[in-house]
Amino acid sequence: MEDIVTEPLLFMPVERKDDTYALRLCLNQGLLTPGMTRTIVQLMDTYPGITLRATTGQRMNLEGIPKANFDDVIATLGTSVPKCPPNVAVCPGAALCKYGMQDTREMGNRLLDTIKANGPYPFKIKSGVSGCAMGCALSFVRDIGLVGLSKGWNVYFGGSARHRAQPGLRLAKNVSDDEAIALVTKALIYYRETGRKCERIGMMVRRLGHEAVAEALGITAP
Ligand code: SF4
Repeated sequence: MEDIVTEPLLFMPVERKDDTYALRLCLNQGLLTPGMTRTIVQLMDTYPGITLRATTGQRMNLEGIPKANFDDVIATLGTSVPKCPPNVAVCPGAALCKYGMQDTREMGNRLLDTIKANGPYPFKIKSGVSGCAMGCALSFVRDIGLVGLSKGWNVYFGGSARHRAQPGLRLAKNVSDDEAIALVTKALIYYRETGRKCERIGMMVRRLGHEAVAEALGITAP
């Protein structure tokens, strides 16, 4: 394992039920640099049983790390954290996709900064930015979802893809970048102040009802 790291990784260990560990790579927007990729490939060459798996949240998991090798891998690979910092899932958006109406990467960065600036929250926040109404970043079922249209953004709050799945409450239609961020900020503060411990946004919206949430945020109930 000498000189294996060409770029250190931030990762969260996850214990598996077969006596192995997974390491969740804390990526943002699913992006891996060449240096990160080299580190991963060299690790997988050194330990042939380890596999790389994409997650639904646009992160990557190194799977199948034997307990016997765990400390060596951890010490060599980068920095281990108990929990990955928040990330934002984005689709390719207007920069790359022929259907894209809005740029997603820049908006994803702004959304991430907004989420980081207004915590801590009662529970984790999953968010997605999609460049058009196809919603490939799963924006309709994320805690915070933005969907690009020709004239701006639709903003969704409290979507869930878990049991009792539900689309988010639409807070706005066709708003500008700044208006979308301002609305998300207001909604996040409301969640921070109103949500119960370990209550996801969707659960809070269900508990309080769409109309009450819309009224509290000063929007017209859809
Ligand atoms: S949501 Fe639209 S812009 Fe984004 S990848 Fe899907 S089709 Fe393309």
